[in-house]
Amino acid sequence: MAGEPQTDCLFCKIVSGDIPATIVRESDTTVAFRDINPQAPTHVLVIPKVHYPDAASLAAAEPQIAADVLREAGAVAADEKVDSTGYRIILNTGSGAGQTVFHAHAHVLGGRGLQWPPG
Ligand code: 5GP
Ligand code: ZN
Repeated sequence: MAGEPQTDCLFCKIVSGDIPATIVRESDTTVAFRDINPQAPTHVLVIPKVHYPDAASLAAAEPQIAADVLREAGAVAADEKVDSTGYRIILNTGSGAGQTVFHAHAHVLGGRGLQWPPG
């Protein structure tokens, strides 16, 4: 069923606690944890606890939870004190855009200068 945990999904296993992660925030609907391969001094992933393959499909099915992900991304930036210097919320969608984990997630990147346009 849509949104149900997937047995072969890395991020569902982080939600369930089967795979450890450095969790920095949690809400009823989301978990935020440090990326294992950080690309900036702050690099945190915010994920919904429910499984959808990407951000747009999450937003179509569960708009409130998509909003929760964005709110928590902003809260992470404030917790990490990168909100004043600027940060980026990234939603890679599709392998051509660099998506490697097909459970919706927002990257929160900050703490260094960020190029625009991104690569
Ligand atoms: P994507 O490339 O799909 O947009 O982002 C997936 C992110 O998940 C990558 O930045 C990658 O470093 C991170 N990642 C992959 N495996 C793990 C893991 O086991 N633990 C954590 N914390 N991050 C992971
Ligand atoms: Zn999943």
